[in-house]
Amino acid sequence: MGLRLLCVVAHPDDECFAFGGALLLAADRGVRTSVICLTDGQAATHRGESKSAEELGAMRRAEFVASCRILGVAHEEIWDYQDAQLEFADFSKLAGRLVATIRTFQPNVVITFGGEGALNSHPDHTMVSAATTAAFHWAGNPKRYIDAGEIFQPERLFYLSSNFFLPDRRPPLLAPWTLTLDIRAVFARKQEAFAAHASQAPLMERTRALFEEHGQDERYVLAAAMEPHAATQSVDMFEGLAE
Ligand SMILES: [Zn+2]
Repeated sequence: MGLRLLCVVAHPDDECFAFGGALLLAADRGVRTSVICLTDGQAATHRGESKSAEELGAMRRAEFVASCRILGVAHEEIWDYQDAQLEFADFSKLAGRLVATIRTFQPNVVITFGGEGALNSHPDHTMVSAATTAAFHWAGNPKRYIDAGEIFQPERLFYLSSNFFLPDRRPPLLAPWTLTLDIRAVFARKQEAFAAHASQAPLMERTRALFEEHGQDERYVLAAAMEPHAATQSVDMFEGLAE
């Protein structure tokens, strides 16, 4: 069946600025990738030419699809949760939908944000982390969500980490990374995917220098694995996994 990678995010553009390198490296080696984005980003500060929240949402849905094409993503979905309101979503239902997604797609590896909510400490990112973590563990548990498909346990869960902070934000408390992906070979395409989010162009402009300085790698934390072992440093998300 080949290796599969599931990435769960909160907003259109998370998939590229945060996880773009991992998605591109995976796609380039033939891994089937899927991105689930829980909101269509209607609460964004940068709103392009849109005249209403609905118009912005529609614009950002199209930008997300364009970005996913550049990232080589095989399958993507935007769900119908409210941007900036995820902390008020029904946790059990959200986790259940993610359990069903994992059981259907059967990823070897799941990637998402850490509990801190990434560099901007966004509560939506924290909620994505919490729900995806629960779903990662519950998907393989025959006692959980018995109507959500055949049980399936992914092998590894990674959270995004970082070796730098945003200068204008309160620094988050990141989990120390255990995985460093060298993304120089795909950096230009990661930037191209970011540029596909035309409504977020001012954000890209503001962070351009930062990503040029620090963006040559992506850092992740191995948060769950099949075998108990001491934390080690790695450079490959799929190391040792059977194809
Ligand atoms: Zn986000």
